[in-house]
Amino acid sequence: MTAPLPFLGDLPEEVAEKVRSGYEALAACRVCPRFCGVDRLSGETGTCRTGLLAKVAAANLHFGEEPCLTGTRGSGTVFFSGCNLACDFCQNFPLSQLGQGQEKTPKEIAEIFLKLESRGAHNINLVTPSHVVPQILHALALARKDGLTAPVVYNSNGYDEPAMLRLLEGFVDIYLPDMKYASDIVALRHSKAPGYGERNRAAVREMARQVGPLSLDASGLARRGLLIRHLLLPGGLSGFSEVAGFIREELGRETAVSFMGQYFPTHRALRIPALARRITQDEYDRGLRILFSEGLVEGYVQEFEGEDEGLFPASSEPEEPEEKECQKEMTFATS
Ligand code: SF4
Repeated sequence: MTAPLPFLGDLPEEVAEKVRSGYEALAACRVCPRFCGVDRLSGETGTCRTGLLAKVAAANLHFGEEPCLTGTRGSGTVFFSGCNLACDFCQNFPLSQLGQGQEKTPKEIAEIFLKLESRGAHNINLVTPSHVVPQILHALALARKDGLTAPVVYNSNGYDEPAMLRLLEGFVDIYLPDMKYASDIVALRHSKAPGYGERNRAAVREMARQVGPLSLDASGLARRGLLIRHLLLPGGLSGFSEVAGFIREELGRETAVSFMGQYFPTHRALRIPALARRITQDEYDRGLRILFSEGLVEGYVQEFEGEDEGLFPASSEPEEPEEKECQKEMTFATS
């Protein structure tokens, strides 16, 4: 028999109904496109290795996000442990795959959000949230009730379930999804993500429907909207031409894109020849040409960080993993 749903307290009925729907999706888990079917209410775990309670690995003011999120006081990032992808090049694999972090109740997560806001965070930035949407929704509902007003950023790998995103409508202000791959074959090979391409596009369509194009306030801070991240992979593996074509055709040229050229091999990528090098100057320049030829001039371009000396030997030991530190040099693509 399935465990009872968590106690929701005195949330307004319309909000409680949404939170309840989220928790019901944990009973035979369909929170993300994997549809593992495990009973997370009873503590079972699926691919994301997360049961009923979300695990938080870190929470802090972060100054490496895009300028419209970082501002002067930082983005209030909350890193969730576990992940519904398993990327060969994951820069956060101690968190995403090895389970670093501590289980927190929704009330404790709400307190983290409120504390970050009281420390001056411009926004609450939910990093790797796709597998813990019900728990996050519950925490956001509690935090809002206790006075949270900062914009909420949903910072995901883009392998999100539209039904879960619909529950977040009105709770998330800024969607910050990756569009990692155009090709399902490449996504399956390097992130173990069946059907990533179409599922990612469906998720991004739903995000765009909810919040529209990115809008900034007078001080240049993001208040609402969609900002899509794309990390160029070596050898054209990320399929940027197709990704950019989709953005232009289906979402429109006003869609903001964060074009990232900082790829470096880590984790299993060190042993995979196709991924064991940085991108080249030619690959970076080609990506930029695609961006501008599609007319995608809203957003940010990360400066090229240089090539490496070629392939790492297959016998290389993986680098000591670090929490993702985005030392991005972003510049506005347009004035
Ligand atoms: S959220 Fe986790 S358990 Fe649920 S379907 Fe996705 S990977 Fe599986």
